[in-house]
Amino acid sequence: MNVDIQSVVIGAGVVGLAVARALAMSGREVLVVDAGGGIGTGISSRNSQVIHAGIYYPGGSLKARLCVEGKQLLYAYCDERGVDCRRIGKLIVATDEPQRSALQRLLAQGRLNGVDDLQWLDGAQARALEPALSCVAALWSPSTGIVDSHALMLALQGDAERFAATLALRTPLLSARCMEQGFELRMGGIQPMTLRCRELINCAGLSAPEVARAIVGLPGHFIPRAHLCKGSYFSFSGRAPFRHLVYPAPESAGLGVHMTLDLGGQARFGPDVEWVEHVDYRVEPRRAAGFYQAIRRYWPGLPDNSLQPAYSGIRPKISGPTEPAADFLISGCAVHGVPGLVNLFGIESPGLTSCLALAEQAVKRLDDR
Ligand SMILES: Cc1cc2nc3c(=O)[nH]c(=O)nc-3n(C[C@H](O)[C@H](O)[C@H](O)COP(=O)(O)OP(=O)(O)OC[C@H]3O[C@@H](n4cnc5c(N)ncnc54)[C@H](O)[C@@H]3O)c2cc1C
Repeated sequence: MNVDIQSVVIGAGVVGLAVARALAMSGREVLVVDAGGGIGTGISSRNSQVIHAGIYYPGGSLKARLCVEGKQLLYAYCDERGVDCRRIGKLIVATDEPQRSALQRLLAQGRLNGVDDLQWLDGAQARALEPALSCVAALWSPSTGIVDSHALMLALQGDAERFAATLALRTPLLSARCMEQGFELRMGGIQPMTLRCRELINCAGLSAPEVARAIVGLPGHFIPRAHLCKGSYFSFSGRAPFRHLVYPAPESAGLGVHMTLDLGGQARFGPDVEWVEHVDYRVEPRRAAGFYQAIRRYWPGLPDNSLQPAYSGIRPKISGPTEPAADFLISGCAVHGVPGLVNLFGIESPGLTSCLALAEQAVKRLDDR
């Protein structure tokens, strides 16, 4: 087969860019395409920008493993490339006795996952770190941090391009066809074209299942159903009295309405959990009532009228509201039988933290037979 390009990556979010970088650095000829007008206009610019430690995820899961590995890779990468990030640490707080047991389970889970720096604090010790908190106990995670996700994506793009990868924006993949050796791709946009490649990596975030369904020759039963789970954020006007991230004990579909700080020290709260049918990023001001209630459990001093609607993001879930949370799903030929195709499904949190580790995994799965 006459191959035009060796490897095509669909999606220039943080994961697609990390995959493109890894592929380009391995000596491949790489094209990254994105339907949007810039890099990272999807989930990658609508999150908490937290570098997670790896505490919450079931032992042995990809989320646990790639978060712990990814955190180390990401801190080292940010240091090397001058991407702004800070290990500011986080407190996960229990505000009543049942939550204390939930925290004990989290401590055990975190240690099992290889997060070896967690510390148990009683209420007084937690308040010594953050005097405004109300809690009966807390877990202190010193390796949790924050990162400038846009600067990270620019650095990944820069590396990929330095190794001769090409980025094409406003270029949606419309459909693909599995050929004897590789794929024929139909691209839309200003300059619609057909091209052929040997390797195809689907990093389309929320649209990954839809993109997979547009690949003729990939059996449909290997494609999970997409479930959209929106999370809204509210910003705090003024200076919040916190120096570290503060998370409540986690809830079912998210980590709970937490307080994150951006690199400028500004506080915001979120994301909450709202299962939706369509992508709509508007933040409903009426959701503030639930935020005041949730935040005041751990910060009773939150002033009235201090929260403003900020932005929202949508979690690309592959399990529904009544199902157990799904793991990251990286499926290569060993799963679906199509050589040269890797789909990344369900790359919700901690996908930002794990991006470099996810990229290593995706590249490995290209060798599946
Ligand atoms: C509310 C929220 C909070 C989060 N907080 C954190 C956090 O604090 N820490 C953390 O580690 N993780 C967090 N995450 C997870 C993290 O943001 C994601 O895992 C990560 O950004 C996913 O990146 P991606 O590249 O897979 O997806 P995206 O960034 O969405 O990129 C996919 C790209 O594919 C493109 N695309 C789609 N369809 C096509 C097509 N047909 N053709 C071409 N291009 C296409 C889109 O335009 C998009 O740019 C959070 C997620 C959410 C929703």
